[in-house]
Amino acid sequence: MLQLFLPLSALGFVYRELKKAMADVARMFALTDIEPGVTDHPDAGELVSSRPEIVFDDVYFGYTAERPILRGVSLTAAPGAKIAVVGHSGAGKSTLARLLFRFYDVDHGQLCIDGRDIREYSLASLRAAIGVVPQDTVLFNDTIEYNIAYGAPETADRAAIERAARLAHLDAFIARLPEGMATVVGERGLKLSGGEKQRIAIARAILKNPAILIFDEATSSLDSHAERAITEALAELAADHTTLVIAHRLSTVVDADRIVVLDDGRVVEQGRHAELLAAGGSYARMWQLQQHDAERDPSLDTRAC
Ligand code: ADP
Ligand code: MG
Repeated sequence: MLQLFLPLSALGFVYRELKKAMADVARMFALTDIEPGVTDHPDAGELVSSRPEIVFDDVYFGYTAERPILRGVSLTAAPGAKIAVVGHSGAGKSTLARLLFRFYDVDHGQLCIDGRDIREYSLASLRAAIGVVPQDTVLFNDTIEYNIAYGAPETADRAAIERAARLAHLDAFIARLPEGMATVVGERGLKLSGGEKQRIAIARAILKNPAILIFDEATSSLDSHAERAITEALAELAADHTTLVIAHRLSTVVDADRIVVLDDGRVVEQGRHAELLAAGGSYARMWQLQQHDAERDPSLDTRAC
């Protein structure tokens, strides 16, 4: 009896852990449901690339058949480039990140990494290659150390975790805690502010050191001072990787290799900051609005979307 019971309880444990992990990832992307059809292709290969090229080619996608969200999106991130996506709330920006992570498959068109459709890569290798700093970070009821190490290879040692915390400007905060790195955070532990949670997510991404980095409005909960410091740390991190920045404040995208303006699921403009300003279109208008807000109150959390 005992013999039968043990493996079954172990299985129950694995199942619960797996379910929890999926729920955490889903919450990370604020998803309500994950498309069950996303599975590994029988001949799926491994994605091994440190600076991949990402191409969205005429991508159409809707969460339901009745309501298309992306309508013919084409954009290219050259190897190692920093691409920014800006646009109003609901334009479809986070959806691009979800497609890249393959929570969903495109309805029409193609999404390619290094010249191959992402469905040709194993899900595990695709997701291992992508680090996401989401809008709302989910913390586990565990130590700060565990929360930073989450998602990183098992080989991540204490020194690497401390370095990541330092680069994410968390070290002074951790030093003030009674139990330092061993302090338990989350719903049943120490409550962290939005900015602190985001810095944990940034430390997580630094530690994971992925080939593709996605920042989904990653500095939105930070004040301007903290944002500047973190933006510098992120620029260092992003230098070696292909980066997709979904931006809240346009000040974080001025140095992007390409800025894509998404409006209602369509790319309406793309180019560098100076080009888009000169073009006098919707990007230039958004920029002017934010400058106005910043002039009125320099500490104001200016928002594009
Ligand atoms: P953005 O990041 O630009 O604010 P999103 O990509 O999150 O926009 O969302 C684009 C549109 O898709 C919005 O209208 C949103 O309500 C809708 N949407 C997002 N997630 C889902 C979902 N899981 N199911 C149905 N509709 C969704
Ligand atoms: Mg979004």
